[in-house]
This record gives sequence, structure tokens and C-alpha cells, in this order.
Amino acid sequence: MNFICLRSLTCAVFFLLFALLVLPTFALSATESAADNDSANAVRMSGTAIHKAEVIPVPEPSEKTLRYYRSGNVLWVLSNIWGLLIPAAFLFTGFSARIRNFARSVGRKWILIIGIYVVIYTCLNFLIDFPLDVYQGFIRQHAYELSNQSFSQWLSDSMKSLMIVTMMGALFLWIPYLLLKNSPRRWWLYTSMAAVPFLLFVLLIQPIWIAPLFDEFGPMQDRALEERILQLADRAGIEEGDVFEVNKSEDTETVNGYVVGLLNTKRIVLWDTLLEKLNPEQVLVVMGHEMGHYVLGHMWKLVLFFSLLILVILYAVHRTAAIMIDRFQHRFGFDKLSDIASLPLLVLLFSVFLLAATPVAFAFTRHLELEADRFGLEITQDNHAMATGLLFLHDENLRHPRPGLLYKLWRSWHPVPAERIEFANTYRPWETGDELKYANYFRQE
Ligand SMILES: [Zn+2]
Repeated sequence: MNFICLRSLTCAVFFLLFALLVLPTFALSATESAADNDSANAVRMSGTAIHKAEVIPVPEPSEKTLRYYRSGNVLWVLSNIWGLLIPAAFLFTGFSARIRNFARSVGRKWILIIGIYVVIYTCLNFLIDFPLDVYQGFIRQHAYELSNQSFSQWLSDSMKSLMIVTMMGALFLWIPYLLLKNSPRRWWLYTSMAAVPFLLFVLLIQPIWIAPLFDEFGPMQDRALEERILQLADRAGIEEGDVFEVNKSEDTETVNGYVVGLLNTKRIVLWDTLLEKLNPEQVLVVMGHEMGHYVLGHMWKLVLFFSLLILVILYAVHRTAAIMIDRFQHRFGFDKLSDIASLPLLVLLFSVFLLAATPVAFAFTRHLELEADRFGLEITQDNHAMATGLLFLHDENLRHPRPGLLYKLWRSWHPVPAERIEFANTYRPWETGDELKYANYFRQE
């Protein structure tokens, strides 16, 4: 559904690289919040009265949804251009080299110079992007009634993110630069290899260690529903998972749920917003989808996929950077990629190639999401709950049911709403006696 569980994966993937400075534009495509809508509420409330086999029609977008969609597209283009212009400005004005000179005069030691440069660069970028971030993340969300967060809450969250980004950058960015220094011809290969364990580490600790920094993780209030979730998990072969309810309703309308873990730390997490907005059947089918991601090993597939993607992108960066430095070294104020002043160049090139690769990446994630939907449907066999749940959440998030092709290719981590609702309506192999694709994953009762 919103099922944005996997979004944190994208963050983690790009987090690790300097690309994390690129993230805002990429993550934007996945940003979602929610709004109140009476018609969707009506569908939800009457849901139990409707016959289970009823097909839920894909709605036409409302006038408000259309406005949000169109202005969002304009904003997406602008913020992408902005995201390329800023690092280009750092480079071509020689400003990056000046920051490096300052870092050298203060730091002396190689690793300290890198740390100081990264702190200055990240903070400056934060300030430069701040007006756009305030508009996008706060003003616009309120204008469309998609958020009820106060400005101070919003600001404190974005300060926390800045601190984490800066800290991670200062702590880890020396790794690719060490590789650049010692192995200027193969650094792209070694950096992408170093990315894999780091990626796994971030993916596993993020939900367990970082997420509780931002939110309150408590036991689930609704014991009866918790029992049903545990039964579903048991059927999906997830044993001894702990169920957590996250208190999110104070600062967001967005719903979320996910299943994470390794060995004996299995966590089934639901935001309280999910429980408030959806009925128990819809919550179960959402969690069926999330369990699908977990059981089908989607996290590992994503790690593998993004590792390869990073490898290809870094190779492209490596080849292009050499040409750029050759041509513009006097303007840039550095003649080697291993100079920390090259960070904006890496960010710039990484952004360009990431943008070029995005349609491929999203085609892959859309495939995984469809399979998680299939798993959720097969394990619950509740088409009605899935279709109404999707309808409700998409409507709340002002999602255009049938966005244009460019939106689908560049901004759709999930299949577009109309495709998901139609799939939820029509996928019923158990009714025709056809074989279930994931039957062998389900424990027999
Ligand atoms: Zn999902």
C-alpha cells in the first residue's frame, strides 16, 4: 500500500555513498503523506457491508489531486535542476577548492581535512537547500492538508537528519577517498565492494537502532489484532516476531508498516496511523504484503541489485570525472579525483547517472512490490480489503490513479495506483482452482 517500508532501503543505499548528498531529489519521488477525504472514508466504513467479491472501480482524480500532481511534477523538475546546479556552482567557481584550503589550514592531517570539508559542505548545502526544503516539506504539505506537523517539529526532524548525514559523512567518506588515493584506476570497483557490507549494516541497524531515535516504539494496543497479525506471521513462516506499535500520529498522517530482522531479532512494526486509518482486514492485508517482502528476501535482492547499480554508476563516474578534470582543472582548483575538493564533482556526476538509471531501478522495485501484493493477496485471500485499502491510501495521499509515463518511469517505486487496484480486484487463483505462486511458503493449518 503505502507500503513505503522499502523506501528506507533506497535511503540506506544512497546514504552510504557521498550520493547521500544527492538523496533529497531522489527520495522526493517517494515522499508521501496523507489527507482526510470523506468519500474514501465512506468507502472504508461501508466496506464491511459490501460483498467481498465486489470489484472496486479505479476512481477519477479529484481536482485537488490533479493540482497536487501537476505542481509536484514542476517541483520535481526544478529540484532536480537545482540539485545539479549547486554542485556545479561549487566546482566551477572554485569555491570547493577554497573550502578544501580552509580545511587544510585547520586540519593538517589527511583524515581531519576530509572530515572538516564534509562538515562544511553538508552544512552549506543544508542552508542552500533550506528554502526549497521548507516549501516542499512543510509549506506545500500544509497547503494540501497532508501534514499536521508544527514547524518546530519539522525543523527539529530536519536538524536531526542533518546531524546524522554530517556525522555519517565525516565518519565514512574517507573510505572512498583512501581508495581513490591508493588505487586511482580501480577505486570504483573497491568502493562498490565496500558498499555491500556497509549497506547490509545500515539496512539492519536502521530500523532497529536509528528508527527508535526518532520515534516511540511500544507494544501494540489492540491485543486481538496483534494476535491475528501473529497468526498471519506464523502462517508466513515468521516465528517469534515481536509486534511494535510506533507512535507517529503526533507528527504525521502518513501510514507505514514493515517487517525486519535477522535470526532472532524479528520485528513486525506498525505505525499507529496505519491502525487508525485502516480497518483490521485492511491492516492484515498490508501486513501480508510486508511479510511478503520479508519472506521473499526482497531486502537481499535489493542489496544485490543496488550494489550492481552502484558499481555501474561509479564506473561511469570514474570515466567521466577523468575527462572533466582534464578539461577544467584550472577552474576546479584540483587535478586529481582523490582531492577532497572533488566531492561536488562526484555528487554531480553521481546524480546525473543516477537519474539516467532511475527508470531501470524503479522497474525492478515495481516488480518486487507487485510480488509483495501477490503474496499479501494469496495469504489473506482478501481482495476486497486490499483494493479498498489501496483506494483509501492513494486517495488520502493525493495520488493520481493513472499518472503519465514519465512519472511512472522516474517516480514510481510502486506500480501506479490503477494497476495495483486492478490487480487486487482480479487476482483470485484460489477461486478458479489455479495454483498459488507462493503456496509453498505458507504453513498449512
Ligand atoms: Zn512494499
